[in-house]
Amino acid sequence: MSDGVLGRRLAGIVGERFVLERDTELLVYNSDGLPGYRRRPRLAVFPGTRDEAIAVVRALADAKAPFVPRGAGTGLSGGALADNVVLLGMHRLKRVISIDPENRRATVEPGVVNLALNRLVAPLGLLYAPDPSSEAACTIGGNIAENAVGPHCLKYGVTLNHVHAITAILPDGDIVRLGAEVGESDGYDLLGAFIGSEGCFGVALDVTVRLTPRPQSVRTMLADFLTVDEAARVTSAIVASVGGGGVSRTTAVGAAGESTYRRTRSSTSRTDRSCAAIRRASALCASASPRLSSARAWPAWIRSSVRSC
Ligand SMILES: Cc1cc2nc3c(=O)[nH]c(=O)nc-3n(C[C@H](O)[C@H](O)[C@H](O)COP(=O)(O)OP(=O)(O)OC[C@H]3O[C@@H](n4cnc5c(N)ncnc54)[C@H](O)[C@@H]3O)c2cc1C
Repeated sequence: MSDGVLGRRLAGIVGERFVLERDTELLVYNSDGLPGYRRRPRLAVFPGTRDEAIAVVRALADAKAPFVPRGAGTGLSGGALADNVVLLGMHRLKRVISIDPENRRATVEPGVVNLALNRLVAPLGLLYAPDPSSEAACTIGGNIAENAVGPHCLKYGVTLNHVHAITAILPDGDIVRLGAEVGESDGYDLLGAFIGSEGCFGVALDVTVRLTPRPQSVRTMLADFLTVDEAARVTSAIVASVGGGGVSRTTAVGAAGESTYRRTRSSTSRTDRSCAAIRRASALCASASPRLSSARAWPAWIRSSVRSC
């Protein structure tokens, strides 16, 4: 089938505006978050509803036209590059289908942006834990396809640990349900195989994610180390000292000369545990870093953080 015929067929499903065929229109879809790698899609199609997405995949299967799904295009692995095949953009499917605070679950369409979900559940005291640094832009569909993970993984695990179930459409147009909202599903762990498969097994149509209670307190600390080795050793010691129950973020936030700055955000369900974790972390930092032993050298906001414990 020629590009023109395929394009018209897809436009019949999603509308002309949502099928791109010209070089200039496709330029922005030639790469993902790593612009050094560029591949031109054959054409791009952007369904706006679940039914449109299903109809598009079935039309592509019928036309024997290979395709690559894409979310926000922030990936760094080339997973969303469509090399002369159809690019299927899923970012318009951004409906939050349901939120169940009592059972701490939410079901969302794949185009929902990670941070948008978190903003929605925050007033309920809940958190969607996976936190890639691209959380302000990346989609839940892209997160599951990449098994994305940010610094929260130190405490909460990776995306795989926060997905109950996925409804997916396979390349031949069949729709499957992987995993289960409650308990575990029988048979092979197909949910586990799908998560991290970079869109190669199918296209997620909806995702039921696990929500986690938000930490009741958060403290931020800044420590200044003379060598990267020392920073890494103390960071590991802090994580070990709280057993994953207290420190949720340990992020390198900058480097100057031989110094490496480490910011540690400690959060627990109980304030006293949080304070104890902070004191342990402070002690570990102080034992390794001469610049930390003098509290007068700390910025005021750090001093007030520690004193408030
Ligand atoms: C500044 C920056 C910071 C980043 N930080 C992190 C980080 O801390 N941790 C981390 O893990 N990653 C990080 N990334 C990489 C990237 O943001 C994540 O992998 C993210 O999950 C990709 O989501 P996306 O919506 O942009 O997906 P895309 O880039 O559009 O696609 C990624 C993969 O998902 C597939 N896909 C997309 N939607 C679907 C769907 N509905 N069904 C099936 N497959 C689908 C695509 O085919 C592709 O293989 C970062 C990227 C940038 C640019």
